[in-house]
Amino acid sequence: MAACSPASVLEPVAQDESVRPRSLEDFIGQEELRVNLRVYLDAARELGKALDHTLFYGNPGLGKTTLAQIMAAELGVNIICTSGPVLERSGDLAAILTNLGRHDILFVDEIHRMPIVVEEVLYPAMEDFKLDLVIGQGPAARTVKIDLDPFTLVGATTRMGLISSPLRDRFGIIARLEYYNPAELARVVRRTAAILNVDVSENGAVEIGRRSRGIPRIANRLLRRIRDFALVRGDGRITAEQAKQALVRMDVDEKGLDQMDRNLLEVLIDHYDGGPVGIKTLAAACSEDVRTLEDIYEPYLIQCGFLKRTLRGRMATGKAYAHLKLFRKQESVSERS
Ligand code: ADP
Repeated sequence: MAACSPASVLEPVAQDESVRPRSLEDFIGQEELRVNLRVYLDAARELGKALDHTLFYGNPGLGKTTLAQIMAAELGVNIICTSGPVLERSGDLAAILTNLGRHDILFVDEIHRMPIVVEEVLYPAMEDFKLDLVIGQGPAARTVKIDLDPFTLVGATTRMGLISSPLRDRFGIIARLEYYNPAELARVVRRTAAILNVDVSENGAVEIGRRSRGIPRIANRLLRRIRDFALVRGDGRITAEQAKQALVRMDVDEKGLDQMDRNLLEVLIDHYDGGPVGIKTLAAACSEDVRTLEDIYEPYLIQCGFLKRTLRGRMATGKAYAHLKLFRKQESVSERS
């Protein structure tokens, strides 16, 4: 069956695989969730039952797919991975469900994008491990009930608000993944560096962690690119200074904002006097789609206090003005030198 292939705009999937943590002990941060998951996994094993259906929500790159794979490894079961938009017809889901083994995990990424006809097939499957299939059309149509092996559905979403309540209510475990703090991200960097055989100093790891916008996938991506600079322009070792220089070249600033983040704030400030402006207009002005702005860029800008969501639209804060002014000043100094 399909290997796990999380949709991501931030990092090619194949590169993620080699550095993905394989056990709960290896998984950095999210302490409370990790402790709770350990209990749920041990309990399911002791009871000899399938783990309760689990829903993870949080921004891309925070570790939802990784946790689903760890759960399967800890339980010693297979994991089948798919995603909401791929499941177009109820038959697609039925085919996957009937192939699941006892206590296997079905991981559905972007579960909020699953069509409603597919979602309805999932309800009895989640609740009673039964499938109600309609075969044929018109007067000749009949319903066939199929018993399924007990399984665990692990759903992942970046948009909790778009999950319908009948679906949400069928999950026994619902957990939110939080942004990581810089110290945790420095640990992620050190762990990945050890796997990739990259020599990174303590301060180098801290510098990368600090500018990774709270997301392990970004920390790993920055580490790879900074390693390239260290190899080509230095002696291969990543120090804090080397990390800083490479990050400047990659246009990642002190706060971890990249060119797109700054572009968004600049459009808001320069074209719309700081807002309020509707998300569709903003997306069009930035040549991005609304979902990418909402899922990838906005959450971090809001977390940094640079952007506000109001009823009338998005607004830049005083902090955003100050940050951009500072960045522009640094830019013109570096251009002169
Ligand atoms: P999501 O499914 O939430 O988009 P992933 O689970 O695919 O995110 O994680 C992206 C990458 O980030 C993984 O390949 C993994 O290497 C890394 N990662 C995520 N969470 C952690 C963590 N807690 N500790 C170490 N690495 C992590």
